[in-house]
Amino acid sequence: MAFGRNCKLPFPEDRFDGSSSLRYRNAAGLESFGGTSSMRNWLILFCLLWLTLASGQAQETRLEELHNKTILVFTPHPDDDVFGAGGTIALLNRNHNKVLIVVYTNDDKGSYDPDMSSQRLAGIRRAEQETSEGLLGTPKENIMWMGYDDGMLEYAAQPKLTEEATAIIRRVRPDVLLSVDPGEWYERWHKTDHRMAAFNTIDAVRAAEFWLYFPNQRLQQGLQPYKVPEMYFFYPSPQEANYFVNIEGVAELKFESATKQVSQFEPAVNKYRPDWTAEDLKKAKDEMRKEQPKKDGHYVEAFRRATEFNQY
Ligand SMILES: [Zn+2]
Repeated sequence: MAFGRNCKLPFPEDRFDGSSSLRYRNAAGLESFGGTSSMRNWLILFCLLWLTLASGQAQETRLEELHNKTILVFTPHPDDDVFGAGGTIALLNRNHNKVLIVVYTNDDKGSYDPDMSSQRLAGIRRAEQETSEGLLGTPKENIMWMGYDDGMLEYAAQPKLTEEATAIIRRVRPDVLLSVDPGEWYERWHKTDHRMAAFNTIDAVRAAEFWLYFPNQRLQQGLQPYKVPEMYFFYPSPQEANYFVNIEGVAELKFESATKQVSQFEPAVNKYRPDWTAEDLKKAKDEMRKEQPKKDGHYVEAFRRATEFNQY
């Protein structure tokens, strides 16, 4: 235990084993302890305080240092998870966490190609996301598709949308939840799907705690209420970002992963092709290297960390 290793009372052991101090103290009774005992009590108090602080710190293990936890990621489109948190997801997978990705939409609108169809694009986007997340270590079985049409999340039946996300949270019972940031003080999103995914996820986080929201989930499906202990919101506004994960060691992997979303980049977004020319690929990666935030000389991903749905 950390207590024994790091917060050892600074008295030589032999003082407690030998005939001198301890025996004298036992024989003499409390009133004879005087200054030495008082000092010892203060030290015990100090150690207990340290232990309390240390256990508090233990609860706040760095996100990238978590092991064997369940991580639930909500993403509006199949790629926001990669752009916003791909490096962190790679680190979490490396650390043997179970990472589950929930994709709100099928992304079936984002192409300028006049010969593209929504049905075909949805298939392309699914395959690209599976390849992209696969590179980060997330198996395709861990990707859940809610299947809403691209750009239409605002117009979905909201009670149903919240109920579905609530059921996922109650079923998965994540140690950590990642989602697009609804903003704490500042609503950043003026883009369909992103704002709805952001608000809906946090609404579902709240609903998941109280079983009387969607009580049929408990009564008929056996899903118990669940309080999400820790949340990290990607795409935070710069003013609200309060948590930075160093992704230096996996940054190139993240960029490689992001380029598997081929249809979302030029030239494939204009006229679909399933692959890159070497020149276009280099250009895209160089752009990502330039745009990825850095802190203290390292690539980072920025989050807003929260432990309550109504954090303030
Ligand atoms: Zn998006």
